[in-house]
Amino acid sequence: MFNSYDDIKREYEYLRQGDYLRYDEKRNQIYAENPKLRTLDLDIIKAYINIGTARLSKKPTDKAEAELNRLKTERSNYLKEHGIRDDYNELKYVCDKCKDTGYVDGHKCSCFVQKEIELFDNVSHFSQYIKEDNFDNLDLSYYNQSGISINGITYKQYMQDYITEFKNMVTNMDEESFSLLLIGATGTGKTFLARCMGALALKNNKSVLYVNVNEYLNSLKPDYEGEPLKYHAISCDLFILDDLGTERVTDYTNTEINYIIDKRLNDKKSTIITTNLVPDQIEEIYLGPTHSRLENSFYNCYLAGDDLRRLKNANI
Ligand SMILES: [Zn+2]
Repeated sequence: MFNSYDDIKREYEYLRQGDYLRYDEKRNQIYAENPKLRTLDLDIIKAYINIGTARLSKKPTDKAEAELNRLKTERSNYLKEHGIRDDYNELKYVCDKCKDTGYVDGHKCSCFVQKEIELFDNVSHFSQYIKEDNFDNLDLSYYNQSGISINGITYKQYMQDYITEFKNMVTNMDEESFSLLLIGATGTGKTFLARCMGALALKNNKSVLYVNVNEYLNSLKPDYEGEPLKYHAISCDLFILDDLGTERVTDYTNTEINYIIDKRLNDKKSTIITTNLVPDQIEEIYLGPTHSRLENSFYNCYLAGDDLRRLKNANI
């Protein structure tokens, strides 16, 4: 389990050290059993050097190249005769994609992203949640319960259309980032849907930070033991902030919430926020910029299953 980015960096150092040790050990063993192979490998290195020096002094390289080819053929025959795989001299990596560096072309490798998720998981337990909360487990009949129609479409159809859209948002987040505000009372499934989207993003090798608003704010306190989540909240591919409005609101929490919302919008990074609050309450609690960002820059989705049922039962 990782507790900090330093742990992840160390893990890659260990991985690479292990790769070299295994490589060395295996090669030394093969050489001990096949001294002839060792001589051939050394001669091949010398042949490469001869070609290099000939090139540098602008002399013909034909002879050195012919010698190199002869040695390579001899080695190849030797390997065949002795049943040695011809990759005996190659380094083996745990992750072939990034050669155990964590990066491919300057971008995080999927193996690095996986480690990041473990890092976040200490706080959010996201990997546990998404065992259940993922689109594969989504049962649309859940949305049938209200049995009510809005503008001629059933609530189930309304949700089905939204879910298709949510999946598209995640699938296309590389091309177009999204900011989604899921609004609904407890029991409407907003946290479930946010986690489903996070699970899909993970499946697509995106780094996802899922965190409850209270856990997030708590991690920013000066006396917090552990990795503050602010850096991850800024840098992850998808940030999910669950249950906005359940925190004790102060100027300080307002500033922090406003900062991360603004930062991710400016950086064009994808964000999902879930809240119990209706827009009027958001306006009341998050005065000024946060309210206007959530209203104007976020795609607002209302989940109303339970409310609808209550309305229906009240015969309104
Ligand atoms: Zn990798």
